[in-house]
Amino acid sequence: MKDIAKLDPKNYTKLYLNGEYVAAKSTDTYSLKNPKDNSLVVENIPIAGAEDVEAAVKYAEAAYRGEWGKFTALQRTECFHRLVALLEDQLIPVLTLDSLTSGNPTSLIPTREKNYIKNSLLYYAGWTDKQKGDYYPADDGFVKLVCHEPLGVCAAINPYNAPVALLIVKAAACLATGNVLIVKPSEKTPLGSLAVAPLFEQAGFPKGVLQVVTGAGSTGALLAEHMRIRKISFTGSIATGKKVQEMAAKSNLKRVTLELGGKSPAVVFEDANLDNALTWTINAILARSGQVCVAASRVYVQKGIAEEFVKRYVEKMRAAAGDLGDPQDVSVKLGPLVDESQFERVKGMVERGKNEAELVVGGVQYGSTGCYMEPTVFLNPKADAEILRNEIFGPVSILKTFETEEEVLRMANDTEYGLMSGVFTRDVSRALRVASLLDSGVVGINCVSYLSMQVPFGGRKQSGIGREAGEYALREYTEPKTILINMAA
Ligand code: NAD
Repeated sequence: MKDIAKLDPKNYTKLYLNGEYVAAKSTDTYSLKNPKDNSLVVENIPIAGAEDVEAAVKYAEAAYRGEWGKFTALQRTECFHRLVALLEDQLIPVLTLDSLTSGNPTSLIPTREKNYIKNSLLYYAGWTDKQKGDYYPADDGFVKLVCHEPLGVCAAINPYNAPVALLIVKAAACLATGNVLIVKPSEKTPLGSLAVAPLFEQAGFPKGVLQVVTGAGSTGALLAEHMRIRKISFTGSIATGKKVQEMAAKSNLKRVTLELGGKSPAVVFEDANLDNALTWTINAILARSGQVCVAASRVYVQKGIAEEFVKRYVEKMRAAAGDLGDPQDVSVKLGPLVDESQFERVKGMVERGKNEAELVVGGVQYGSTGCYMEPTVFLNPKADAEILRNEIFGPVSILKTFETEEEVLRMANDTEYGLMSGVFTRDVSRALRVASLLDSGVVGINCVSYLSMQVPFGGRKQSGIGREAGEYALREYTEPKTILINMAA
């Protein structure tokens, strides 16, 4: 990693509106701590109020109607390419700053984070001029044209775990289709979003096209109920997602996409390549210390391999405790949970879990300071155990054994979540059969918790509504318009 210019969190205590950092009109503020030791990172982060949100919407509308609306598709593509070039140097400082409050390891920046962010931008850069419409002949006397038009002012309400990556992936699809975006990062992790925003203007996007308002749920609610915002792309918990959808319905019926939580199963059959299954299932629960929506938090293992699989899985999870450390140290693989409230939440679920399943490793805080949880494994929980039913969002996995395909499908699908699943087997017919029967938006065969920008991502059941990524996301940011031409006139 090359030497990086450090960004000072004290420079990010304003909103980013219309191409500049401006003091919020609202005087409500809060402070942020570093979860590695609960030390103060910065004070006075604004909680944007109604006047601030109104200002952002006005600027966004002006940008949408102004120069941006006149950009050719290829001008938009060029902006994306310039942004990618700027991020080549800027991503490390931006994400290092962000890590101060997210606890996400800076070691992930040059690989996982950079690839995801760069791929999103390059992928959607190629879509700007490929949204073709339809033509229907005048068999009934009318030629019919269908074109796909942008929605206008959109807003993204983001969760705490991957703030910059989510800002970018949402902005990519939103701006490729000619919309404008107001982003509200999580109150826990706003710094990276504030720091990345000016790069959009430097890349040639006109001011007001991408803005950032900070704040808590109250700011998110102001966006969700705003009468002139036309779409909310929400990523977060199911409970908040439902509120957002309700506010959208009660205000102006704005379009809503919801990317919500998961309790993703990985099903490992006896004929699976065990080394491969172990690598994927372990990485899938440890990445970002389990704070990933697609974390494989339920692992079902067929009886014949259960003893060996569980032994090796547990050994790896025990060893992973040694990978925990200072997220700002670039040699450290695993960081803390995001803050004390998430740490207490995970600890509480783990404590209660001890009465509902066999704790085989972890289950305690790592060290004595900061929000570190040891990688934790529970075996064979009761059918109604909270740790089996609810998303934990920590480095905690549940292993359960099974005998037959029918049995494991019933258990894997016995949940209100439906984001991601994995099936591990060398039998191609079984792999495809099980993949088609698993109730989730994405299924990995011999992999899990992997996302590709080329294909739709999103949840079934209560894991969400709508899709991000791929061509499908373009439909979520546009609306078809039908034009009828009377050929007899
Ligand atoms: P959260 O629901 O607590 O918060 C998400 C966002 O909603 C934050 O910006 C928050 O300020 C805002 N918010 C809170 N109350 C609001 C209200 N009443 N109106 C409008 N906005 C409001 O979620 P979190 O704890 O930050 O994130 C973790 C959750 O996100 C997990 O459930 C995880 O699975 C999910 N997640 C899903 C995906 C996905 O793509 N499916 C990706 C990442 C995270």
